Amino acid sequence: MSVPVRVTILGSGVLLPDDTRRSAAHLVEGADFSLLMDCGSGALHGMDRFQKPWRGLTHLAITHFHTDHFGDLAPLLWALHHGIPGGRDEPLVLLGPPGFNRILGALAAAHGDFVLAPGFPLEIVELERNGRWDDPRGRFALRTHPARHTPEAVALRLEVEGVRPHDGLSIGYTGDTGPDLDLGAFFQGVGLLVAECAVADPTELEIHLSPRSAAALAQVAEPALLVLTHLYPELDPDRLPDLLAREGYTGRVLTGRDGLTLTVGPGRVEVPPGDASTPNQN
Ligand SMILES: [Zn+2]
Ligand SMILES: [Zn+2]
Repeated sequence: MSVPVRVTILGSGVLLPDDTRRSAAHLVEGADFSLLMDCGSGALHGMDRFQKPWRGLTHLAITHFHTDHFGDLAPLLWALHHGIPGGRDEPLVLLGPPGFNRILGALAAAHGDFVLAPGFPLEIVELERNGRWDDPRGRFALRTHPARHTPEAVALRLEVEGVRPHDGLSIGYTGDTGPDLDLGAFFQGVGLLVAECAVADPTELEIHLSPRSAAALAQVAEPALLVLTHLYPELDPDRLPDLLAREGYTGRVLTGRDGLTLTVGPGRVEVPPGDASTPNQN
């Protein structure tokens, strides 16, 4: 059996001030890695708020260069530079979409040398939009798919191998995207799918998902559990699962919240008591 992986939503909101929903950030904790998927504002302090061992972060992956997805990158590197007694030796792998090196250079010019020289090894990886990156130490693989949002935006599919074949687990994260059934196929069969659902129906917007387009995407992906995140205030979190059911989505679905931790194993996702998913299969 592969060891279950815990996924914690640090930020389920957008950039508008909201004390309960901070900008996009999702922490994935495995047996031998700790990966932050997006690092929007609120992520760094959220790690402490939800008692996450931020000093032990091993990987950070950015989906695109909107402020609500990487606004806390420089603050996080500052904290890792200054906030570890005795310093840090463990490398940090920074993964980002095309243009990532240029963005990191701009952040260093704005914030200071610590961004690119934090006092421990940085391994910077520019992901291809349609590709795969394998951790050199075999901890996981990260597959990417273009996301219909910005020219560089990627969606992520994390694969953790099990000891035996068919024992692995997978986690999908849309980042920001638009209606896209091809992206649904990319996520086919993931255990947990964390999908943005930013705007309400009806919408003509083609660079975000709504309940209708999220339902269509998830109907193709067929995850064991769909978790909706990145909500603008116009969406009522309590009504979201119903809205997706009305759009024809028959799978298990849950609206995310800041601090929600899910446990992902091969083909299954455990939800904490009190965070009932619909249909309720806890
Ligand atoms: Zn965006
Ligand atoms: Zn966003």
